[in-house]
Amino acid sequence: CIILLSTAIFNSQTRLHLDKKKTTEERITLLMDQMTLEEKIGQMNQYNGFWEVTGPAPKAGSSKLKYDHLSKGWVGSLLNVRGVKQVREVQKIAVEKTRLGIPLIIGFDVIHGYKTLSPIPLAEAASWDMDAIKKSAAIAASEASAAGINWTFAPNVDVTHDARWGRVMEGAGEDPFLGSKVAIARVKGFQGDDLSAVNTIAACAKHFAGYGFVESGKEYNIVDMSNSKLYNMVLPPFKAANDAGARTFMNAFNTLNGTPATGNKFLLRDILKIKWNFKGFVVSDWASIIEMIAHGYAKDGSEAAERAAIAGSDMDMESYLYVQELAKLVNDKKVDASVINDAVRRILRVKFELGLFDDPYKYCDEKREKEVSGSKSNNDGVLDMAKKSIVLLKNQNNLLPLKKSGQKIALIGALANDKTSPLGSWRIAADDNTAVSVLEGMQQYKTNSLIYAKGTDVTIGKTTFTKELEFNTTDKSGFEEAINTAKNADVVIMVLGEHGFQSGEGRSRTSLDLPGNQQELLEEVYKVNKNIVLVLNNGRPLAIQWANDHIPTIVEAWQLGTQSGNAIAQVLYGDYNPSGKLPISFPRNVGQVPIYYNNFSTGRPTNVDNNVFWSHYSDVDKTPLYPFGHGLSYTKFDYKDLKLNKNSFQVGEPVKVSVSIKNSGNYDGKEVVQLYIRDVSGTLVRPVKELKGFELVDLKKGEQKIINFILTKEELGYFDNEGNYLVEPGIFKIFVGTNSDQVLETEFELK
Ligand code: BGC
Repeated sequence: CIILLSTAIFNSQTRLHLDKKKTTEERITLLMDQMTLEEKIGQMNQYNGFWEVTGPAPKAGSSKLKYDHLSKGWVGSLLNVRGVKQVREVQKIAVEKTRLGIPLIIGFDVIHGYKTLSPIPLAEAASWDMDAIKKSAAIAASEASAAGINWTFAPNVDVTHDARWGRVMEGAGEDPFLGSKVAIARVKGFQGDDLSAVNTIAACAKHFAGYGFVESGKEYNIVDMSNSKLYNMVLPPFKAANDAGARTFMNAFNTLNGTPATGNKFLLRDILKIKWNFKGFVVSDWASIIEMIAHGYAKDGSEAAERAAIAGSDMDMESYLYVQELAKLVNDKKVDASVINDAVRRILRVKFELGLFDDPYKYCDEKREKEVSGSKSNNDGVLDMAKKSIVLLKNQNNLLPLKKSGQKIALIGALANDKTSPLGSWRIAADDNTAVSVLEGMQQYKTNSLIYAKGTDVTIGKTTFTKELEFNTTDKSGFEEAINTAKNADVVIMVLGEHGFQSGEGRSRTSLDLPGNQQELLEEVYKVNKNIVLVLNNGRPLAIQWANDHIPTIVEAWQLGTQSGNAIAQVLYGDYNPSGKLPISFPRNVGQVPIYYNNFSTGRPTNVDNNVFWSHYSDVDKTPLYPFGHGLSYTKFDYKDLKLNKNSFQVGEPVKVSVSIKNSGNYDGKEVVQLYIRDVSGTLVRPVKELKGFELVDLKKGEQKIINFILTKEELGYFDNEGNYLVEPGIFKIFVGTNSDQVLETEFELK
């Protein structure tokens, strides 16, 4: 009887935090008051895998440890557990077997969709369509949440200037302004208006910070940059993600100016948690805490755990160090208990906000899982996103749009008949062969004749996520068939580029050419038929100077996800008029990299005296092949009348800019009107152009519109090396146009 009574008292006390009438902060306090130090540290511990937790485990050894820790309440989160069945199983252990029953938060890399895949994020950014991007993230959230997941490790908001870096496919390209808008759209799409709703998931802005600037684009390399560059180029999309309410951040693998991002108090506490008032939690990147030993920043696991926790990394992903080291570090007074309390409060806060305490099984609904995954409306949604992501790079001789009948079309390239590559990197939950291929998309237009020939392979051997891939195919046995097919065709469509697994994490390249012998195939086919439409599939900018000089029509189709082939066919046939614009510059050759529009002027920007002493390479044009913001349409847009409401303004006064745009071509279409500024002189030099506004405008054939922009202090200032925001008087140039290069220009004075 005494035992029963004390259990009842214990239970009623332990459940106080379940009272929904209390505020979240009160509920967290009530729960934390009951937690032992080990249970608190357990919340800061994240493990990978399902089988590894429940066993029998493929990776012997770790399963028992993980299971024991889970049932003791020493695990706060699992990643890569997926599907309602798995999630229910692990959640049951956490909720029903542990002393306090604290639910797990289940994380997963939902980078561009779950089962139904959207285009890779770089491609989505090319749409410049924030409503579409938000919708795409919402589709991903609905599918992932229906599979039991409540937290995605996305969006990746790393700005990058280096096409060699494999993870360029995961971000929004080279510009912090566009990157910020995309970050907001994606955070809002994942999280919705109500994080506790069953179809929303917590977002994670990553990788904080600087990862996009790894030296020479080599994966995991060091990052060294000025603070001004950090504040102006790297941090804005993170700040935007925080302002949009991103509930979590992930730190980065790289060092930043000598300090690993994982142990970087300046980034994690001074900027993120103090200056930006971030209330969510920071998860480490995979094993990035233990990697601080290899970096040479910690002498052993204990020191790594100490430095990461003090710096503000709240959750340890797969280093196993917090769970092993933190309790001792607290008892030895090397880590203050307040550090642990702060981290745990942050983690519990997100769990409460997700509604996990009110119903830990809310994401475990088999019926919903069946209905949502791969639904017709999700497929329609990603198809729409895919069409909007396509960029028409060049269109001479009116090859596009294709005539709908009476045409003999040759379709060439292994990628045209590939149902896996278009899914792109980061598609862990989607099965192989689930994309619509270009061949399948084109076959739906039955009034033309279509003949397919592979020509050459893109990869040698099986493509897997973890294996190093080989791309140096020398097998030309398919060339002859491809050339003969092309010879007799009215139009040749060649789908060439990178395999979907050739970019992504660990996939940096030193060459930006078409891999294998695809370039040779292109040149051979060109010899017999010049009417070529080159459709590029790639996860990064490619250097296609030869193609640009010879091939009349080039379409950038990235890796477009599940509906790839349908989207490409609809654009080629003119059922969708392309409107995408490049979110990153395309170089002429790899030696130009990093090449980006928002660069700085040198003292010798141009050749005045016809000599060699100016800033350039002597063996290549100084411009990129395609500038940032470039993208054509089947129709034509004319810009004129760039005007300001005044010629001089006081600091703080809004600057009103207007421009007239007319659709003077033969099709209805959409155009992204882009506004750039240049702060001509200042305390620190500023880029030659900075995007500060854009609008996606719909114009019927013959229609004309006036587009207005307003520039405020927010657009006209910049950060100095101490992180002060300066808006400095002086001359500002304004550029408005169809890309970062072709612009109308005016200027004003800020007084
Ligand atoms: C990547 C992260 C990812 C994590 C979990 C790491 O290797 O850098 O972006 O979220 O793994 O899969």
